[in-house]
Amino acid sequence: MRDDAAMTEELFREDASLHECTARVVAIDELGVRLDRTVFYPQGGGQAGDAGVLQLADGREVAVSDTRKGALPGEIVHVLAPGADAGAVQVGSTVTARIDVARRRAHMRFHTATHLLCALVPHPVDGCSITERYARLDFHMNEPLDKQALTDGIARLVAQAHRVSHRWISEAELDANPQLVRSMSVMPPRGQGRIRVLEIEGVDLQPCGGTHVTNTSEVGAVVVTKVEKKSAMTRRVVLGFAEPAAG
Ligand SMILES: [Zn+2]
Repeated sequence: MRDDAAMTEELFREDASLHECTARVVAIDELGVRLDRTVFYPQGGGQAGDAGVLQLADGREVAVSDTRKGALPGEIVHVLAPGADAGAVQVGSTVTARIDVARRRAHMRFHTATHLLCALVPHPVDGCSITERYARLDFHMNEPLDKQALTDGIARLVAQAHRVSHRWISEAELDANPQLVRSMSVMPPRGQGRIRVLEIEGVDLQPCGGTHVTNTSEVGAVVVTKVEKKSAMTRRVVLGFAEPAAG
């Protein structure tokens, strides 16, 4: 059953550079606030959910600590921070939904860097986690990986300033190109008739619903901080920012 009334318009899928939007409050419950549209990315595909605020018409701000997918397909839940005044948010009212830009920017840079890593390590991915402070990618392989060579490889692809863009393809097109699926753990969502594909020109092409920068140059100084053997057939690569954290 598809309940279109529950679906949240996902503005971040077409334009990851949007920091805010106005939206109507559709529902509020103990899980959080649902809006008719949002710029908040819900945790998924390894990428952490957005945080930020919902600004009410009177200027008050209600803090959002996380964003999750709801129980129904296409439903996005803005999780209010502990202590946030949920009672101030009224169903039917208009709010300005504004993300924590520094946090999202870190997600976008790391997420794009994980695609660069995929291009450097030609093995299937069987796990992925992207946060504000680090990203990690698990590859299904038993060969050793060289930390410095991977850091140098990422730096080269960043310096080459490749264009990053997305487009939508049909499920039939995906079925005809199974090599597009790099990840063993995260299969592209089915049943919506179309699949979002992320392309880093000349470098990487794979289904992905996450948020990315628009050019690899924006990834900046990302380094491999650790390479671990997680199991006989899993090598984990951890990424970090090379520059000191702001503030
Ligand atoms: Zn991606």
